[in-house]
Amino acid sequence: MIVGIDLGTTNSLVGVYQDGQVKLIPNAFGEYLTPSVVALDDNDQIIVGKIAKERLVTHPDKTVAQFKRFMGTKHELVLGDRTYKAEELSSFVIRKLVDDAETFLGEKVDEVIISVPAYFNDAQRYATKLAGQFAGVKIERIINEPSAAALAKKLMSNQEDQSFVVVDFGGGTLDISVVELFDNVVEIVSIAGDNRLGGEDFTAAIAEEFLASNQLSKESISREFYSKILVQAEKVKLNLNTNEEVKMVVMDQEKEYSLNLTYQRFYELCQPLLARLKSVLDRALMDARYSYVSSENFVLVGGTSKLRLVQDFLSYCIDQAVQVADDPDKMIAKGCALLAGIKERQGEVRDLLLSDICPFTLGTAVVGDRFSPIIERNSPLPASRTEQYYTAELGQSQVKVEVYQGEMMKASQNLFLGELEVPVPVNKRAHEGFTIRFTYDLNGILDVEVTIDSTKKVFNHVILQESITLTEDEIKKKQAELTRYKINAQETEVYRFLLEKANRVYSMLLGRRRDELMAETRRFEEEVRQASMYHLPKLYQSFSNYLEFLERGL
Ligand code: ADP
Ligand code: MG
Repeated sequence: MIVGIDLGTTNSLVGVYQDGQVKLIPNAFGEYLTPSVVALDDNDQIIVGKIAKERLVTHPDKTVAQFKRFMGTKHELVLGDRTYKAEELSSFVIRKLVDDAETFLGEKVDEVIISVPAYFNDAQRYATKLAGQFAGVKIERIINEPSAAALAKKLMSNQEDQSFVVVDFGGGTLDISVVELFDNVVEIVSIAGDNRLGGEDFTAAIAEEFLASNQLSKESISREFYSKILVQAEKVKLNLNTNEEVKMVVMDQEKEYSLNLTYQRFYELCQPLLARLKSVLDRALMDARYSYVSSENFVLVGGTSKLRLVQDFLSYCIDQAVQVADDPDKMIAKGCALLAGIKERQGEVRDLLLSDICPFTLGTAVVGDRFSPIIERNSPLPASRTEQYYTAELGQSQVKVEVYQGEMMKASQNLFLGELEVPVPVNKRAHEGFTIRFTYDLNGILDVEVTIDSTKKVFNHVILQESITLTEDEIKKKQAELTRYKINAQETEVYRFLLEKANRVYSMLLGRRRDELMAETRRFEEEVRQASMYHLPKLYQSFSNYLEFLERGL
């Protein structure tokens, strides 16, 4: 049995695809949201979820929350007299959800599909896979949260093909993605995010105001007192959704502290947070080359999307009232469960393809520690791209191809993924040329291929974070799968044929129609260059129709 898991910073959910529909699985409290909180009980046993969250206030030293923020880092969190890394803590949450699912389904769960913020890099994704391994389940597939939300949206609305702006505002992360749904393809066109911005920051803004107005500071009060303030601030935040003014009261050592907070003041306090929301929105729209969005294209998911402040602000940004889905905080889990269903019934996989994008730039280092991108951020996957390079010095006998991921100008400031040493023919008169091809698939497997121009010799290296645990045979198999993607769109026959045909039609046209065809051909070339494999047939078809239309008019 495969289940889908939304492993959130604040809350996690698990769901399954059964009897032709998505079902979310309730925990022991009959609730779908399980707090991503881990605690030690009085017998030093690990507990996860709602009870653990209760103990945040009473036993702050034996409770941890928000650890997803440290995924993929060396940071250790203190729990009782031990420290844990984020992936270990996450494994407890996964185990709990899987246990709940097994109880509910009466079946063993052996594989899970799990979602991560689109902005997670390879190290963070790998840490998520490790968490699954620690929990004793195999992570079948990691999916970007906005992809999952888009899938759920498609499932629930059964709409015509459309473009959406998915705003996923959770407890600790914000992801905004432009997603296109057409035929049975879900394609993410762009993503932007801030993985340090979430609902907890709005709660913290209220807590700060509370401290300030009571002449207190975080450093001068006990951890218990601050935890109590946070719990009340969270309540005030929710109450401000429906009230214009809310009174907040917290007791500490028999003394009462209070604050009257108006919605207007809350809006003011959150200006810096809203400005960050705006900048992420602008980036996502700019990357997708969108200048206008209507409220119908807006999909709000995540608990913080329920915040009136966020809805009001987004409405102000797009100059129209945004609409909120029924269950914004369950959309991603539903998408993961749907994908689990698709995975389980292979036959249907073909019916609903999922195209994804590469959330970061992949490239190599060139002279002077400069980063040379090969597959650019937001390229549709699977992607296969080549770039031409030359040896730096005359007569050198080998080149070292270093592979990096990231957006920094200096190669060394990006994440180093691996390297490949390649012998080149010694040439004392000219710089030897070589071509590097990167092929990157949906599961984060990067194939690096170097071809020496003069000898046509090919060198190959697969980079995948888990390579330590894979056998030679498995790596060979993965390589074989990847060869399928190694045709550049530009190299395919249909494409060449269409360009030849365009040339022929061009030669027969005159004046303005020629200019038009020239412009259309340029646009077509550009679109093909940027499209994913799944998009190509559609692009070819429409350009072919256009040429035929011109031909008929001759
Ligand atoms: P994550 O994806 O980070 O695990 P969720 O999507 O579950 O988080 O969102 C959790 C956040 O949503 C919390 O900060 C919580 O305060 C906030 N939240 C939940 N319900 C509401 C609501 N009705 N109004 C405002 N905020 C809410
Ligand atoms: Mg979430």
